Amino acid sequence: MADFAEHRKALFCNDAQSIADYQSAMGEAVEAVSAWLQNEKMYTGGSIKALRKEIAFQPSKEGMGVQKSLDRMVELFLNKSLKVHHPHSLAHLHCPTMVTSQIAEVLINATNQSMDSWDQSPAGSLMEVQLIDWLRQKVGYGEGQAGVFTSGGTQSNLMGILLARDACIAKNWKDDNGKPWSVQRDGIPSDAMRNVKFVCSENAHFSVQKNLAMMGMGFQSVVTVPVNSDAQIDTAALAKTMADLKADGKIVACIVATAGTTDAGAIDPMKEIRNIADQYDAWMHIDAAWGGALILSNEYRAMLDGLELSDSVTLDFHKHYFQTISCGAFLLKDEANYRYMHYEAEYLNSAYDEEHGVPNLVSKSLQTTRRFDALKLWMTVEALGEELYGSMIDHGVKLTRDVADYIKATNGLELLVEPQFASVLFRVVPEGYPVEFVDNLNQNVADELFARGEANIGVTKVGDVQSLKMTTLSPIATLENVQNLLSLVQAEADRIKDSIANGTYTPPIA
Ligand SMILES: *Cc1c(COP(=O)(O)O)cnc(C)c1O
Repeated sequence: MADFAEHRKALFCNDAQSIADYQSAMGEAVEAVSAWLQNEKMYTGGSIKALRKEIAFQPSKEGMGVQKSLDRMVELFLNKSLKVHHPHSLAHLHCPTMVTSQIAEVLINATNQSMDSWDQSPAGSLMEVQLIDWLRQKVGYGEGQAGVFTSGGTQSNLMGILLARDACIAKNWKDDNGKPWSVQRDGIPSDAMRNVKFVCSENAHFSVQKNLAMMGMGFQSVVTVPVNSDAQIDTAALAKTMADLKADGKIVACIVATAGTTDAGAIDPMKEIRNIADQYDAWMHIDAAWGGALILSNEYRAMLDGLELSDSVTLDFHKHYFQTISCGAFLLKDEANYRYMHYEAEYLNSAYDEEHGVPNLVSKSLQTTRRFDALKLWMTVEALGEELYGSMIDHGVKLTRDVADYIKATNGLELLVEPQFASVLFRVVPEGYPVEFVDNLNQNVADELFARGEANIGVTKVGDVQSLKMTTLSPIATLENVQNLLSLVQAEADRIKDSIANGTYTPPIA
């Protein structure tokens, strides 16, 4: 039987041995990460087939000990992980991270504060509230505390859509006592299920649909509007959709605008959308999970004009803000709208505490136990200063424009959408290559380069066309880096094109 001393040693606590083990193992972990960073390869885990053979969980009664386990994790996990800072890692909105974010994580993890009540995060609660206030001012909402850190864009979007629905139903339905209907208490009125709608562009993030399905409204409650050639919502089509829905007896609870669509980086025209939403008394939620980084921009802040007109907004710091996962926020313009999700748990947020101004963050969040992710952003802003931070964000926007020009000027590469923010949708089209094989070729080029650890390029669709995607948000990537990558893409296409055309090609993923 393990004894009490062993428990103390294993637990992270004030035991002298526990502290000594923590210091030495953390030192080793940091050493291992540093060695991993110095390996120039983007990825060394191989294809999914190769990797699957090696990954095996090995629980035992005795345990292998911390040292052996750490060595094993370095081999099994660290050395087989994608390097997100590598200039060829640009498939997703998956960012390299700040040193400050790494340091803050050590403090966040070690203290394990939880944001659901003040007594579980005394300093942290007060810090988060101040950061929310600062973010509100950056967005243009004005001072206040209505908002909360979240696990990311999906959760922030859920909060916006949920509050919009419940506000809409409270406005348009009465309960048996003639009072505004409370969805929180009474559920969704049966005729609201078919009549309450949510409108967004066809390029809005899929979490809009997914969230509404979870909210019991189904995908059927989402009405999508076509986009223009810049991948932004077509406002004439939006106006028509709104009019048609009204004529059909539907009530639009919310228009979801996107500031930075996940693929094209398109920013919907926010002022025009606000005008249309006002004509129908609809909530406007802006999903700025990606484009929201421009609130710190030195040069491109104007691209977000109109953000302040929204009723709620989604921000994501684990994208173009270079924070470690998870780190996001939800901001609500009018604090009164939080009433639709207020819940009093005597042990967490008593009326007594609220009377005395004790921060009550559990009422503002869908989560109960919650990480103090706000520390990462706080520390980064304070340490770097807004100017350096802003210029790191701006770098990606500029780089993207240069990359697009380069693609346009290069034979064998085709730009599919004019970039607006920090992503490039393009494809490789070798001269004289049969059109029917071009889609497959692009998919296979991306898979090959990943399996060989050379590059992580995204694969998506633009209309019906198979597209490659580069998210060029890295503050340390150069045009030369991207040019080298594009040369790899073209060389790889040349290498495999003939074997695809004659049917002898085996993709690395198969
Ligand atoms: C990434 C993204 C989301 C989802 O955010 P998560 O943090 O991944 O949950 C939502 N909307 C947009 C526009 C995004 O780019």
